[in-house]
Amino acid sequence: ENISIETPARTYPVYIGSGAIEGLGSYIKDTFPAMTNLMIITDETVRDIHLHALESVLKDIKAKICTVPSGEKAKTFEVYYHCLSFALEHKLDRKSLILAFGGGAVGDLGGFVAATFMRGIPFIQVPTTILAHDSAVGGKVAINHPSGKNMVGSFYQPQAVFYDLNFLATLPQKELRSGFSEVVKHSLIHDINFYSSLKNHIRSLENLPPEELSQMLTKGIEIKGRIVAEDEKESGVRAFLNFGHTLGHAIEAEKGYGEWTHGESVAVGMLFALELSKKLLDLRFDVDEFRLWLAQLGYNIDLPGDLSHSKLLERMKQDKKSEGQNVRFVLLKEVGKPVIYQVSDELILRELAIFSNSTKR
Ligand code: NAD
Ligand code: ZN
Repeated sequence: ENISIETPARTYPVYIGSGAIEGLGSYIKDTFPAMTNLMIITDETVRDIHLHALESVLKDIKAKICTVPSGEKAKTFEVYYHCLSFALEHKLDRKSLILAFGGGAVGDLGGFVAATFMRGIPFIQVPTTILAHDSAVGGKVAINHPSGKNMVGSFYQPQAVFYDLNFLATLPQKELRSGFSEVVKHSLIHDINFYSSLKNHIRSLENLPPEELSQMLTKGIEIKGRIVAEDEKESGVRAFLNFGHTLGHAIEAEKGYGEWTHGESVAVGMLFALELSKKLLDLRFDVDEFRLWLAQLGYNIDLPGDLSHSKLLERMKQDKKSEGQNVRFVLLKEVGKPVIYQVSDELILRELAIFSNSTKR
């Protein structure tokens, strides 16, 4: 399977499927015949489980392996600096190639290293999580600042994405849930049939048949690709991808990144955005049924009880996507019809109170 992502900056292929990395070695040789060096940025977990499989498809290309900590700890200034030093020590130059091998954290870091090293060298994404069907496509790359997530970054598209679904077999439950939440998001903002088929077919995230997995990730990537093609740098429709993320990011940040994964927080954020959509836009949607489905899949469906609503509101206002006075939510007029809607502080606090009471039932 091959999806083409067409952005103003670059058109590039996403190769997706079981065994998708098998063509990687010859792709690199054909596309970068003058390549001087290949640097792989990966994390400790992915290196230990999967690096041998990646190295075996590179055949006689001897890559330099730069290992970083697993998870969000990869996206710090220290680790970024380490990667740049590593690249310099190993004599990378403008004809070298960076390959980001891991989840969204490694992809965001590796992409930002590639975007900035010597003013930008080419890079390839080899994602290994479900969540990375989202993060590896679209060209947003970034690291974090202690005062905020993704505060330092760039728009920088990869040359190609090699998404081998065999890597996903070793993902823990929590990470399956984190990634699946973004698949659900893609369905809700773009395609009611896709949403219905997910809801009717997916009863558990464990042992998903490869066919099913491949289909839903392909669909998710196509939706993301279409939105990014229309709006690479987020002046318009790309903001719709933020559905569920306004409250989701706030939960994630207040929880300190880790205990609640990105997607688990976004799931609660989507529930809240759906409740708001019903109140403010007369959305016709069975939120209770949706909540039940998420619960069956193992998601936390309650706002964590220990979080102060005013702190959550503060976080939402700090989010770099909020503008001026009011927090801007992505709401749904209908499933597949998102809109940006400004919501006042008072209303947010009132709805958060109702939301946390209703989930305590
Ligand atoms: P991650 O990269 O932190 O990976 C999650 C965990 O799974 C890590 O501990 C990792 O070591 C482990 N892991 C990865 N692949 C594995 C495998 N195949 N088997 C077993 N374990 C594996 O997290 P993620 O959920 O993939 O991505 C989250 C990051 O993505 C966040 O930093 C978020 O900001 C970013 N993101 C970026 C975009 C974007 O457009 N750039 C979009 C969404 C999210
Ligand atoms: Zn997300």
